[in-house]
Amino acid sequence: MFIDTLIEKMKAALQNQACLQCEQKLGNHSQFCPRCQEQLGLRVATPVIESAYCLGHAATDFNPTVKKLLYGHKFYNRKEYVGHLSGLLIHYWQHLPPYYGFSKVHPENVLVIPIPPHGGNVSLIDMFAARFARHFGYDYRHDALSWVREVRQQHRIHEKSSRFSNIAQSLHMKSGIVSGYERIIIVDDITTTGATLLEASRAFHNEVGSMARRNDLSCLTVTRIPLGTQFRSGDIEE
Ligand SMILES: [Zn+2]
Repeated sequence: MFIDTLIEKMKAALQNQACLQCEQKLGNHSQFCPRCQEQLGLRVATPVIESAYCLGHAATDFNPTVKKLLYGHKFYNRKEYVGHLSGLLIHYWQHLPPYYGFSKVHPENVLVIPIPPHGGNVSLIDMFAARFARHFGYDYRHDALSWVREVRQQHRIHEKSSRFSNIAQSLHMKSGIVSGYERIIIVDDITTTGATLLEASRAFHNEVGSMARRNDLSCLTVTRIPLGTQFRSGDIEE
């Protein structure tokens, strides 16, 4: 894992670090130039969800550019967007203020876990969540969370309370995996009501017990979409 991170860093150094979106040369440790940061709706690093169990972060506010990347990856298998999507997570995380404490934790004590795919599908989250983890030298386990029952697709449910009841008690955290880590980061593509992230937090809490603090668990998504925004594959032109 550590070697992978070194290789990534060396590659970045050799490439003179260019903006992932417009390829303009960058002078600092950013993934995107200021103009593209604005176009991509990159958020100032502050949580969008604060519950007793977790802090939930969204890298961007939903907008046409992020929509193109996310839906292109999700519905049109556009592999070339994976770098942009992981870049959004990386950029956001690089700008996380020190008081969240991640700069003090050794990367090997941080574990990244993606929200798993439904019904045995190939995981789309896995592709960019793994790159995000590798960038920072964090450990990564794609199989830590699993669905214990079928749930309806959240984006087809338009009422907030129904989203929460749809997903309640549906995720399971494999026992033993998270023990020994100081911090856990659960990664997903989209958050709207936070229902999925809070269910994942519940599964985490169920596994580690009452010793867990909110600071132990962070959730990170590529974007947040306001409830009621249409979510259809046909919405983007390819
Ligand atoms: Zn740019």
